[in-house]
Amino acid sequence: MWIVFQEDLIFITLNNIIMALKGAIVVDTEKCKGCGICESNCPTKTIGISTEVNGKGYPFAYMANPDACTGCTNCATVCPDSVITVYRVKI
Ligand code: SF4
Ligand code: SF4
Repeated sequence: MWIVFQEDLIFITLNNIIMALKGAIVVDTEKCKGCGICESNCPTKTIGISTEVNGKGYPFAYMANPDACTGCTNCATVCPDSVITVYRVKI
């Protein structure tokens, strides 16, 4: 199996089949405190911080530029509250 990162896509070859993957994140907005650590550690500038607030009065992270996500998982790794889940989507 080979994994190749190119711009905002990940290509995986498995048994001579090439698949292109993109990433997607889901943020538990009620647990997010809007600290922005994920935003500043996203290499593709996918994440923004909302102008709306959650039930606790905090702004929350969201996919401001969803097409750019590679699924690299940086955001989930650095989030101090572990409220981001990263998915890889076949395209
Ligand atoms: S790092 Fe976590 S808590 Fe901070 S804004 Fe991002 S998702 Fe919210
Ligand atoms: S998975 Fe990577 S590219 Fe996607 S939002 Fe998180 S840090 Fe950005």
